[in-house]
Amino acid sequence: MRAIISAREVEELLRKGGDIKSIPSDAIVTPAARDLLREFENSGARPWSSGLEKTSAKAAQPVTPASSPAELEAFFNSPEIHALKLQICEVGRRLWTRAYVDGNGGNIAIRVGQGLALCTPTLVSKGFMKPEDLCLVDLDGNQLAGGKKRTSEILMHLQIMKRQTRAVATVHCHPPHATAFAVAGVEPPTCMIPEIEVFIGKVPIAPYRTPGTMEMGKLVSDLEDQHNTILMANHGVVSWSHINVEDAYFKMEIIEAYCRTVVVAAQLGTPLKTFSQTHLQDLLKIKQTLGIPDPRIGLKECELCNNDEWRPGVACAVPPQPSGAPGPDEQAEALVRAITDQIMSRLKT
Ligand SMILES: [Zn+2]
Repeated sequence: MRAIISAREVEELLRKGGDIKSIPSDAIVTPAARDLLREFENSGARPWSSGLEKTSAKAAQPVTPASSPAELEAFFNSPEIHALKLQICEVGRRLWTRAYVDGNGGNIAIRVGQGLALCTPTLVSKGFMKPEDLCLVDLDGNQLAGGKKRTSEILMHLQIMKRQTRAVATVHCHPPHATAFAVAGVEPPTCMIPEIEVFIGKVPIAPYRTPGTMEMGKLVSDLEDQHNTILMANHGVVSWSHINVEDAYFKMEIIEAYCRTVVVAAQLGTPLKTFSQTHLQDLLKIKQTLGIPDPRIGLKECELCNNDEWRPGVACAVPPQPSGAPGPDEQAEALVRAITDQIMSRLKT
């Protein structure tokens, strides 16, 4: 049977430094995978690569924070790093275009080399960055190259990278609907849309601390072991990816679209429906095969869909019922109906 090659498989192959010639000549290549291969062949670079494999594997003597200023400068100006700078500029443009950042807000980082990261500068709109605006720092935040000063919020990104060794890229921004949940102190509900369950999962809220402080970074990175996307109370959202910076950015699109959909759906006047815990188990299995962590993997079904924090409330994290008592779905539905009725009657008065 002919092999089917998807974009994800091509991405994985390139990430591992594999040879595209290893793809069988008779394989069926999906259109997205073909685009990736074409982009790779045209640019001579790896599209959306993490940067880790190229920069560490290529040099006989890996560049580290202890390398000489001349070596660091040459590394910072190399074609490989230039390609990653372009990726950061492109993600910044998408963040600004979608109104996920405001003024000079938001920041982006990619782990490169050993103990190094490429990051965005301070006081520059993320929509209009040029490759020469970017900065090279060590994992303690000391700037090693780049004409502009690095963002003050880089400490949080670096704490994430130190704590979560799988994190190759991080994105922080202020998308309005997701940030609204962070301001209200309400965790987004679960079991409503498959995509967020697979690519993100349950989204926790890190307590508020002054942006740019080590304490803020610590509170966020404490949650990174089990979550790839975190709401920052009264501030915004931060995500990390084990694949590349575009994947970290995708999490922003997913969480923001999800929060917007939930807010709009809650205004329709009918109870919000959730899918079952069995269906969630199926999604968690897919997630496991993709290597994305989720603290719910391995939980019992009755513990899965915990929506206690969500108001108007869809609660299905209830212990198994004795026979004869109403099941979790009926209880959840009755609760949602009661709260929705309350909201609707308040709106009418
Ligand atoms: Zn911020």
